[in-house]
Amino acid sequence: MSFDYDLFVIGGGSGGVRAARVAAAEGVKVALAEEDRYGGTCVIRGCVPKKLMVFASEYGGMVEDAQAYGWDIQPGAFDWKAFQGKMHAELDRLEGIYRSLLKNSGVETFDHRASVKDAHTVLLADGTEKTAKHILIAVGGRPTKPEIEGIELAITSNDIFHLETLPESILIVGGGYIASEFAGIMNGMGVKTTQFYRGAQILRGFDDESRTHVANEMIANGVDLRLNTNAVKLEKDGDKVRVTDTDGKVQTFDQVMFATGRAPNTDSLGLEDVGVELGRKGEIVVTDYSQTAVPSIYAVGDVTDRANLTPVAIREGMAFVETVFKGNPTKPDHELIPTAIFTQPEMGTVGLSEEDAREQEAIEVYATSFKPMQQSFAGRSEKVLMKLIVSQATRKVLGCHIVAPGAGEMIQLAGIAVKMGATKEDFDRTVAVHPTMSEELVTMKSPTRTG
Ligand code: NDP
Repeated sequence: MSFDYDLFVIGGGSGGVRAARVAAAEGVKVALAEEDRYGGTCVIRGCVPKKLMVFASEYGGMVEDAQAYGWDIQPGAFDWKAFQGKMHAELDRLEGIYRSLLKNSGVETFDHRASVKDAHTVLLADGTEKTAKHILIAVGGRPTKPEIEGIELAITSNDIFHLETLPESILIVGGGYIASEFAGIMNGMGVKTTQFYRGAQILRGFDDESRTHVANEMIANGVDLRLNTNAVKLEKDGDKVRVTDTDGKVQTFDQVMFATGRAPNTDSLGLEDVGVELGRKGEIVVTDYSQTAVPSIYAVGDVTDRANLTPVAIREGMAFVETVFKGNPTKPDHELIPTAIFTQPEMGTVGLSEEDAREQEAIEVYATSFKPMQQSFAGRSEKVLMKLIVSQATRKVLGCHIVAPGAGEMIQLAGIAVKMGATKEDFDRTVAVHPTMSEELVTMKSPTRTG
């Protein structure tokens, strides 16, 4: 049977675009459909604009620090509109790059929503049908909001990049990556920021000491973090939103943002009708090789709800191409993924938390917390945290957790050592780079805790 294409990719985000390009470079005939903007969540409404907002939000504090370093400068007002215009221009530029990368690789693109008609046929929103030997679903996910009264008054992370004006006050509901990152961003931009988290501590699942450190520093920076608190009702109050919380307290905010999780974009894709298995959250169930229950259909990225991170989606896309088009069956590696949470302060982490490691085996914990030179000189009281979890039996570093300015940059490199199976003694025989914060990772002599 002959097909229009060897590969049809649905979704032009990080995973889909990479798979399409790498496959096309192998001489595979590839098409890709995207209903929205090329670049997907990461480029258009995620990592990239978020990080630009983190940068923007940090300059206010830097002016004060510069004064402490002898600079005769005064803090000014933050011009949201000026920044927002530049941010969106940058996103337009990046989207253009994504489009030209696809074009230059010989991938045919369709600016339409696509669904799956059968194991080898894709139906485009304009009614055209295209056949392909293989179909790759890389449609990502979307923010979800709980069904509470007045929830339509709340925005999500998709909307925050498009606000007409910077609010004077904001409530952010949730305690995950997105809620905690935007609490820092908004606070840094001078917005009176309140964060509700329903549990005992934000960033559930990460190392306890590290997330507590992040939370305490966020509070010290001015975020009104309310733990064990949730929003139960939202009401319109002029241009504002009146929020009733679980304690019965009522407060009014200019904006309310829910960052209460994301769901895979599998609605109306026709997947179940053709036999693709979906999980409880609607995620596509795949094998270790990203193959669905229909052998010609594969899926990568957030739509599979494995590790919902851009670099992981890219790896999954490349492993798919290795497996299907290069005759080299390759499983994407989901072990020891380093990651950074761009809270303020930033957290970088790889491997096991102290709690998870202790459940697994006997460990030694090396941790140090101190005032970093740059901020300390500027009169700030903030502290950083450097932490290693070490196996007593093998001496391997099982986990590394850093809460510090630049923690994301540091954990990328520490992640290589941990991934290679470095022992505590390997860390110790590495000469310190002085004076830096991360030198503490190679100079911690005695364990803080064992057991
Ligand atoms: P998460 O799943 O990380 O967090 C959701 C948060 O919302 C949790 O704190 C959860 O609480 C809370 N929550 C869930 N349901 C409700 C509810 N009904 N009422 C109140 N609170 C609720 O989702 P995010 O949206 O923050 O992020 C999604 C994913 O995006 C992340 O897991 C990550 O993979 C990725 N991401 C990565 C980033 C990075 O690499 N820096 C940045 C941003 C996102 P509880 O803990 O109690 O369940």
